[in-house]
Amino acid sequence: MITVPVQLGDRSYDVLVGKGARHRLLELLPVGAQRAAIVTQDEIGVAVDAGVDQHVFLIDSGEEAKNLETVEDLCRRFSAWGLTRRDVVVGVGGGVVTDVAGFAAAIYHRGVPVVHVATTLVAQVDAAIGGKTGVNLREGKNLVGAFWQPAAVLCDTEVLESLPPEEYRSGLGEVAKCQFLPGGEGLADLPIDEKVARCVEIKARVVGADEREGGLRAILNYGHTLAHALEAATAYSALRHGEAVAVGLVYAAELAHRLGRIDEERAKEHRSVVEGYGLPTVIPAELEVEDSELLTLMGRDKKAVDGITFVLDGPKGVEVVTGVPDGDALAALRAVR
Ligand code: NAD
Repeated sequence: MITVPVQLGDRSYDVLVGKGARHRLLELLPVGAQRAAIVTQDEIGVAVDAGVDQHVFLIDSGEEAKNLETVEDLCRRFSAWGLTRRDVVVGVGGGVVTDVAGFAAAIYHRGVPVVHVATTLVAQVDAAIGGKTGVNLREGKNLVGAFWQPAAVLCDTEVLESLPPEEYRSGLGEVAKCQFLPGGEGLADLPIDEKVARCVEIKARVVGADEREGGLRAILNYGHTLAHALEAATAYSALRHGEAVAVGLVYAAELAHRLGRIDEERAKEHRSVVEGYGLPTVIPAELEVEDSELLTLMGRDKKAVDGITFVLDGPKGVEVVTGVPDGDALAALRAVR
């Protein structure tokens, strides 16, 4: 079992990674927790034993269920069960569960502790770590939420075996991203437990330095500027998130090369890492999206503050870059079509 600390002063916590990590839940519960509200989804089928009085609260699956109605319903059921601030919420699932359970925990009784048992690759390397919680509005994804750090996270790599292959693939997009962040060298060659742990370490280091996205945390969005635009242009139906991130990484490298920030070798490395995970390196031909539409959507990304904000590789590593000429952004786009 690998333990990765997330260092955030009095909100620090451990992430436990390895086969069977879910069985260590009891020892990682906050001291004195008397009851555990287990939030999960029917099809996940991952049973946990908190070792205290526990009750399972099922929520619906899919991005459509990640909304305020689900959170309200959950909080009302917590209340009916008598959950108090001395108890703990345990999210057992992928990013939808950890985002919903985390947000409900952040606001129920103005905050009860939460522990995540991450059951998808996306949740293990990304969603369950770092304390961002939230839900979607009809107006957009993740528009309502809170920073609420978990008390612990368990990444049980054994449960990834029951994950549908397309869900696993989607997680690989975020893993590919980590390869280009500080500490990501050699990531592709590691066995799965170490791969997950390394991704957690990379995210933990960034979150530890910039918990609330004042600056550095934006590098975790590497590859996401185009990815979000592709998802929005296709109403989230044509590409899975990790596949969109994969194309976004190749695009970001193409653009960085065009701007003279990285050499051709480094741009090629992006393609080969993404290909190595069996992920797409170009915008699939069947996607009917205009270049100009994508450019507009990239400009509207909620992280954009000064025209299109990109996160690009360069001599000092991956960093936020503003003021990229539209012509270069467009030319790089055509290179990945
Ligand atoms: P998901 O939570 O929808 O899970 C995918 C599917 O797999 C679901 O149907 C789920 O029920 C099922 N499943 C989960 N674990 C399983 C298992 N072990 N065996 C079989 N089936 C299982 O999707 P996801 O990709 O994990 O998460 C995506 C969500 O995460 C998005 O809403 C995204 O916004 C969010 N996210 C949040 C952060 C953050 O920092 N808060 C970061 C990245 C992503």
